[in-house]
Amino acid sequence: MNEIIYPLAVIGGGSAGIGAALAAARLGVETVLIERDGMLGGTAVNAGVSCWEPVAGATGIPFDIYRELEKIPGAAGIYSMGRHCCHPDHNEPPFPGGESIIDPQRNYSDTLLRCGTKGIVADAARVRAQWHGVIFEPEIYAANVQRMLLDTGRVRILLHRTVTAVHKNSIDRIDAVTLDDDTVIRARYWIDACGVLARLAGAECLAGEDAAGEFQEPDAPRKPSSRLNGVTLIFRITPDKQAVVEPLPPDVPESCWWRKDFPVMSCVEYPDGDRNCNMLPLMSGEEYLAPGEDTAWAECRRRVLACWHHLQREYPEFRFFRLQWIAPRIGVRETFRVRCEYMLNENDLLQGISGQTHDDIIAISDHMMDVHGGSRKACGELQQPYGIPYRCLIPCGMSNLLVAGRIAGFSSIAASSCRLSRTMMQLGQAAGSAAALSLETSCRFPEIDIGQLRRSLIDQNVQLF
Ligand SMILES: Cc1cc2nc3c(=O)[nH]c(=O)nc-3n(C[C@H](O)[C@H](O)[C@H](O)COP(=O)(O)OP(=O)(O)OC[C@H]3O[C@@H](n4cnc5c(N)ncnc54)[C@H](O)[C@@H]3O)c2cc1C
Repeated sequence: MNEIIYPLAVIGGGSAGIGAALAAARLGVETVLIERDGMLGGTAVNAGVSCWEPVAGATGIPFDIYRELEKIPGAAGIYSMGRHCCHPDHNEPPFPGGESIIDPQRNYSDTLLRCGTKGIVADAARVRAQWHGVIFEPEIYAANVQRMLLDTGRVRILLHRTVTAVHKNSIDRIDAVTLDDDTVIRARYWIDACGVLARLAGAECLAGEDAAGEFQEPDAPRKPSSRLNGVTLIFRITPDKQAVVEPLPPDVPESCWWRKDFPVMSCVEYPDGDRNCNMLPLMSGEEYLAPGEDTAWAECRRRVLACWHHLQREYPEFRFFRLQWIAPRIGVRETFRVRCEYMLNENDLLQGISGQTHDDIIAISDHMMDVHGGSRKACGELQQPYGIPYRCLIPCGMSNLLVAGRIAGFSSIAASSCRLSRTMMQLGQAAGSAAALSLETSCRFPEIDIGQLRRSLIDQNVQLF
């Protein structure tokens, strides 16, 4: 049996796991990072979601990563809005959704504000002036992030490994985990950036819509439901000189695209002129969970092919593009959330940072309440950024485990806003910094000095107000 011992283990190498491992290592912590896939990046790489929508607060590690990518020609760009189906310009061909185009006039700080508009339908001019995002080449991003982690000299990365069992030495402490190759990892502190540790350790998890009574949310339904945000399989198209409608394989009827319900796509230009295509939801969250990932991926692929064929037939400009790549993983917006010492909820989002009274805010965000594939009442733009308390990272009853990522302590409404990649990375940065402090002072995660954690984050350029 192979045994590896580290002060800190981070499980899951997506946005949150990267933020956690990098922050901890930079603060001097020897860290092992365990990732199921063959490349770091998680949803932002392996599911093709290589876009960072505008969001407040992404000033820490996401900015550091952007600065590295900026040095590499063609690795990343800032985009602004192009055409939008809600505001057709009669001098331009119609577009099936929202188009975002590389905008060399913009810089990273232009991507740090979302809130304060009424949204694209009611407030188009302001939205156009204010909303800008980042797009990057996923493989270059993954390689750079890996290099940044290794450059610290303190991170060991294990790819193609999953956690199969958790061993506790008391009710509130994880002692070790077993990986699928029988390696045993022992650590003093753990950061779970995918949810597997919390689940296997027996932490309470929530899934679906929470009832209004659960967190006293004004727009939650009266009764809980199993409804989850929809999933999407991202694809990439590349320009071509010849106009062609690519034929559909015989086993994929055009009718398998659910066009009637979900007619729009978000289409973002890469620096090389390719397009990142996101058909917003391609399948409901419940339909994705039922048959398992492989079956769901195969069905989503059929829908991508059918949808692409339809786009080429109905919108002639797409005949000058070829379908180049379909992401190897489905983009999943929501599965479950871990019950934590505090559950961020709609009231926090509506109060905003000026109305919240928490003294343990470790990240901010301002993304809208954003529901895909259904009509939830709570949906819409926010008027100011809100803060995310440290307690949202502490699973109830655990002393050496933090959760960071979209599985952290959020109500389902809060999760619909809070899940953006850069916000998840900031949660990871806070969790990694908390691990460094805990090691230094030999304390349990719930007992760390919050003032010290916030000062550490501010020293790392994290915007907290
Ligand atoms: C279709 C879609 C479009 C989106 N659009 C945007 C956008 O435009 N802008 C934006 O900012 N955000 C967007 N988001 C949200 C954002 O991409 C995700 O919420 C965010 O990337 C989640 O980061 P994470 O670190 O929590 O999880 P992930 O990125 O999912 O990382 C979890 C990691 O854990 C690994 N893992 C899982 N199980 C195990 C295990 N047992 N052992 C080891 N490793 C494991 C996974 O392989 C993965 O790498 C979108 C999401 C989707 C699905």
